[in-house]
Amino acid sequence: MQLQCPKCNHELARSSTLKAHCPACDCDFKLDAACDKCGSQLELLQACGATNLWCDKCNELKSKSTAVYSVKPL
Ligand SMILES: [Zn+2]
Ligand SMILES: [Zn+2]
Repeated sequence: MQLQCPKCNHELARSSTLKAHCPACDCDFKLDAACDKCGSQLELLQACGATNLWCDKCNELKSKSTAVYSVKPL
């Protein structure tokens, strides 16, 4: 999925699961991941070198590609 800079609308470069960088205005942003089903904020789980997202409400693991991301200033 594509993330856009809230300041200049340039496409953001993903630096990690919940971080992004805008190469145009040189700003860093934090990403909030929300569950695609219930909308709750997902927790980041790191295990064995893999990063997963966990929904407390649905009680299940979410893949990084199904989560709904929103861009927040750092
Ligand atoms: Zn920008
Ligand atoms: Zn959920």
